[in-house]
Amino acid sequence: MKHEDLRARHGAVMPGWMPLYYEKPIGIERGEGFRVWDYEGNEYLDFFGGIVTAISGHAVPEITEAVKGQVDKVLHTSTLYLIENQIKLAEKLIERAPISGDKKIFFVGSGTEANEAALLFATRYRNSSEVIALRSSYHGRSFATMGITGQSQWSPTSRSGLDVSYAPNPYRLRCPFCKDEPRCNLQCADDLRAIVGEETTGHVAAYIAEPIQGVGGFIEAPPGYFERVKEILDETGILFICDEVQTGFGRTGSHFWGIEAFDVEPDLVVMAKGLGNGLAIGAVMGRAEVVESVSPNLHLSTFGGNPISSTGALANLNYILDNDLQGNAYTVGTYLKDRLLKMAEGHPVIGDVRGKGLMLALELVGPGREPDPAAANRFLEACRRRGLLVGKGGLKANTIRISPPLTITREAAEEAAGIMDEALAEIGAREGVR
Ligand code: PMP
Repeated sequence: MKHEDLRARHGAVMPGWMPLYYEKPIGIERGEGFRVWDYEGNEYLDFFGGIVTAISGHAVPEITEAVKGQVDKVLHTSTLYLIENQIKLAEKLIERAPISGDKKIFFVGSGTEANEAALLFATRYRNSSEVIALRSSYHGRSFATMGITGQSQWSPTSRSGLDVSYAPNPYRLRCPFCKDEPRCNLQCADDLRAIVGEETTGHVAAYIAEPIQGVGGFIEAPPGYFERVKEILDETGILFICDEVQTGFGRTGSHFWGIEAFDVEPDLVVMAKGLGNGLAIGAVMGRAEVVESVSPNLHLSTFGGNPISSTGALANLNYILDNDLQGNAYTVGTYLKDRLLKMAEGHPVIGDVRGKGLMLALELVGPGREPDPAAANRFLEACRRRGLLVGKGGLKANTIRISPPLTITREAAEEAAGIMDEALAEIGAREGVR
């Protein structure tokens, strides 16, 4: 069996401590739209989308043809030369920036590198190494970005070249401030003022946040949260780095960028994943004044915005816009969320249904509403057996992440919901308490 053979040889590429998904790990051989097939020929509905990356779906002819055309011409030249599609991509992204005024964009190869560059620009501009990040955040795997990732399982070292403070994340279900109050009163945002005043020198370079925390378990900031945060940042000139790696490109349905649901402007916007629909590309877009603070020193990336990635990302961006994938994320996402909310009524293992557009989550809990990671594992297995791939996330790995390509139809959403309903019944019956 191909999977067993690959699993036996997998130790060569990844340390044993990194768990693969599923008791019997699968490998994906090919995909088409929102469906994928494993090496043994089994078909799945892909509702994890390569961890929130395959935004336009798999094997999209418009994107594939564009990339093939570039492969036939030249693979790589140098970012020291002019690259037509890189410039077109930059112009198109800047047209849609959630930032006013003069803007610039810097291309890299991943989300990690994009955050790394954002940190460079912000610390240089502000002449400070102090950064405020949120608990349960995830910003990447380099030394600096691990230092601002608020989940110890993703930070193999507690050392950092930055002086990092962690602010409470706006996590209504488990909020230490207002979870027992009828309404969220944004105390977690207000707490930032105390952090700046009591835990820093007062001269902080940047505050970094995801509009909806991705790896943290699709934790949505409540209305008014970022407006309150921005007021506090503006008091001392702290820059706002918005990490849109998971929330950008229409994923949240209501807006192109997740932060646009709030009446604030970030100083730097970080993007990757959906930008390339699977190609290795990331970028940081920011106020020209901030981004250019590194001048006259050269900041350069060999692969950042290379001909292949730029051509693919440009074709992907055109596909997203021409086919109104954001609109589809809104319509199908709203339908699916309603369906999940109804499902929750019959399955007490669901402690929370959250998210928006096609970034939806089910937080699985035990009888005392404590996180239930074992239930999340059983749910994943039960879905896989029925032909549905979903993701896991959250500080306690008890949250199911649903993030299909934005091209899914209502029928596919219904098919997935039916499978999830059956999977929930199966895990409930096994435990005998739900
Ligand atoms: N920021 C966020 C919000 C992410 O979810 C991720 C990846 N999970 C990253 C940054 C890092 O991106 P990459 O894995 O492309 O380096």
